[in-house]
Amino acid sequence: MLTNESVTAWITDRMSRYEYNNLKELEGFAFDAPLVGFSRGDDPLYAFYKEHIDPHFYRLPQEWLEAVLGGSYDPSGISVISWVLPQTVDTKEKSRKCVDCPPLEWQMSRVHGEECNRALAEALVAHLTAQGIPSVAPMLSEQFSWGESEVHGKISNWSERHTAYISGLGTFGLCDGLISEKGKAARYGSVIVYAPLTATVRKYSTYNEYCMAKNGCTACIRRCPAGAITKDGHDKAKCVAYHRDAIKSICHERYGYDGYSVCGLCQTGVPCESGIPTWEPREQTAE
Ligand code: SF4
Ligand code: SF4
Repeated sequence: MLTNESVTAWITDRMSRYEYNNLKELEGFAFDAPLVGFSRGDDPLYAFYKEHIDPHFYRLPQEWLEAVLGGSYDPSGISVISWVLPQTVDTKEKSRKCVDCPPLEWQMSRVHGEECNRALAEALVAHLTAQGIPSVAPMLSEQFSWGESEVHGKISNWSERHTAYISGLGTFGLCDGLISEKGKAARYGSVIVYAPLTATVRKYSTYNEYCMAKNGCTACIRRCPAGAITKDGHDKAKCVAYHRDAIKSICHERYGYDGYSVCGLCQTGVPCESGIPTWEPREQTAE
């Protein structure tokens, strides 16, 4: 029988194996030990986000199962498995020292670490399907897509971070990253299953509860080389422009690396980097 414990053990075991969790072009694990959370497919927050993000674009768990697998599924029998893959201590230490572009390890974790993340989702779907449990990983589906919203800018028809939020794994920070018990420097994934699992209790009641901006924290604002984070939040257009105009050329000149490259400096050297922040004013100048 599928249980929260058996799923968590399976994911944890896979990610403890170097062959499934490495940076490929560099020596080292891609991610530290994962966090796993669960939510019900009929959790009202999925419907809330569908309405909030775009009711004609974002899909509910039930809609994903039906669109990919065919047939119909009772929402009360659907569960969502969500995970957080934290960046390694080594990658975070190196990134903390950077001011305009993260290290090559960060780039490799975005490219090859993400391959491990996607392979995890694929293997989990295969593992569940072999047990006769209908399952879908939206991130792997040909039906996964990006769109534009007048209100939110770039949006997708399934959001790993919103799923993690609904699945009890953490809340959002000022820079839009998800702050979990392992911090904000992480990547995320999920699989939707037609099987009853117990929802993880959300230890928070608001979408940004773990973020210390309300207490005066400005660490990610000061960390951003593009001025893309303000007290009002994350300016996606400025962030994208910095990736396009600066990160690519820095990676080429500094690392001789011309592959897909990303920033993410706002995820390290900040109080929420590796855990839920317990922020005090004197920490403002610490990093
Ligand atoms: S660095 Fe501070 S303001 Fe920014 S997301 Fe983290 S806790 Fe919130
Ligand atoms: S990813 Fe980089 S450019 Fe974008 S908000 Fe974070 S620090 Fe700024």
